[in-house]
Amino acid sequence: MKAILIREHGGLEKLEMAEVPDPVAHPGEAVVRVRAVALNHLDIWLRRGVPGHKFPLPMIPGSEVAGVIETVDDPRWRAGDEVIVAPGYSCGLCAACLSGNDPFCRQFGIFGETVSGGAAEKIAVPIRNLIRKPASLSFAEAAAVPLDMLTAWHMLVARAQLRPGETVLVQAGGSGVGSAAIQIAKLWGATVYATAGTTAKAARAKALGADETIVYTEVDFVDAVRGLTSKRGVDVVFEHVGGETFERSLRALAKGGRLVTCGSTAGGEVTINLRLIFFKLLSILGSTMGSLAELHEIMKFVEGGRLRPVVDRVLPLSEVAEGHRILEAREAFGKIVFEV
Ligand code: ZN
Repeated sequence: MKAILIREHGGLEKLEMAEVPDPVAHPGEAVVRVRAVALNHLDIWLRRGVPGHKFPLPMIPGSEVAGVIETVDDPRWRAGDEVIVAPGYSCGLCAACLSGNDPFCRQFGIFGETVSGGAAEKIAVPIRNLIRKPASLSFAEAAAVPLDMLTAWHMLVARAQLRPGETVLVQAGGSGVGSAAIQIAKLWGATVYATAGTTAKAARAKALGADETIVYTEVDFVDAVRGLTSKRGVDVVFEHVGGETFERSLRALAKGGRLVTCGSTAGGEVTINLRLIFFKLLSILGSTMGSLAELHEIMKFVEGGRLRPVVDRVLPLSEVAEGHRILEAREAFGKIVFEV
């Protein structure tokens, strides 16, 4: 089959369209014919490499897949069923897995990070990773659901324990995870402030449900938050930018506020003034993706139309390098998806 293969880390030229052997389904697995695969920052990290982290190269990227079952041996599924593939896998048998904390499983991994993913014509996945694709979503929209929705949900609902009536600052509301966070925070009854790099992105963030938007390239977002909250600050900051944004996000918090982070696209090394943490009784919460059970919970809202993935554009898989370029240049609002 054809697949995008990363043999070594580097620039866009390392995204090679290669001929590789078809995946083989092990017991308990299904083979899915990939119809769409969404792009994440994880794909960028995999391509570029991360200092101090070893990816098992050569590897096929692609963590978010929607497609059609080709072969399956399970009474609940048939060949031809349309599915979304849950991006995380685990043993399914240990205490962590059985208590719904599968990311804590010692065998937990993510397609396109720890094993090959779905930027290919086919992928073999455990049957419990299959989730029925809502008929209301295209394959491209369906591929844009699992990783970002799950990441944003786990951050806001499980980690930050968002409550109705609270205020949330969503950093980079035009990103895949940011556009998910705006919708989830609104669903949870919060007042949502979203930052965006351009007025056009801010307008789209508002259309998604943000109560107020802040164009961070034009105004200081900390000042803007103070203005919006009568100098109080927000209860929760949804952070995934890192770099200089991180400490300033802490400054945007109210007393007792929580900062929840899942990424550091602008840099992982940050400086924190500890006086800020203890005097204002702040919490910093780390988060990575979420559980399979949470994804099933999310799908109820996706099926009901209350959460909707935002697709910026759909490209053919042969243009994967262009997709990486657009994501790195922050030109997209929402998700970039490849059709296979
Ligand atoms: Zn386990």
